[in-house]
Amino acid sequence: MKLKIRQIGDPVLETIAKRVENVNDKKIQKLIDDMIDTCRADINRTAGLSAPQVGESLAISICRRFDLGEDVDEWEAMINPEIISHSTDESIVWEGCLSIGVGDKAIYGPVARPKNISVEYISRTGEKKKLDAADYFSHVVQHEVDHTNGILFLKYVPKPDTNLWLSKDLDQYIEETGEFPAVN
Ligand SMILES: [Zn+2]
Repeated sequence: MKLKIRQIGDPVLETIAKRVENVNDKKIQKLIDDMIDTCRADINRTAGLSAPQVGESLAISICRRFDLGEDVDEWEAMINPEIISHSTDESIVWEGCLSIGVGDKAIYGPVARPKNISVEYISRTGEKKKLDAADYFSHVVQHEVDHTNGILFLKYVPKPDTNLWLSKDLDQYIEETGEFPAVN
């Protein structure tokens, strides 16, 4: 079942989410199924989704497994995720968020984050897991883990008045120039 996405301004997006005590709880498993359905419903725009974005203040993130391929339709449920190590090297990715603008009004901005990270989490079957992530996938995981800590990517965009773009303007710029705008 597709869930409604909360938009910026909703306090749940800026609240530190509670850790999940029992992964086997039917309500938790149903929430994970519904979150994955919600991701697939808007697959071209969706790299991940976290429970606060659907109004549940719980530490659950769904990340699309871009480490396995560009068009992969595989989604990892990360429960109580924690970034346990990160590189000092950073990469810049233009990030957007399902909770920050809808459709043409979606907003994107350049975000610098560690290029490589390791994340530890509980899988939906209750196993403790560790995953290494690089480049774009590393940004996806960090963006989603941030949601469980009440943090939105806007916080990291330098000079938001010049570096935040509406998706339609950004798409047009990329179409005309073949590249992302310079970060000012
Ligand atoms: Zn987001």
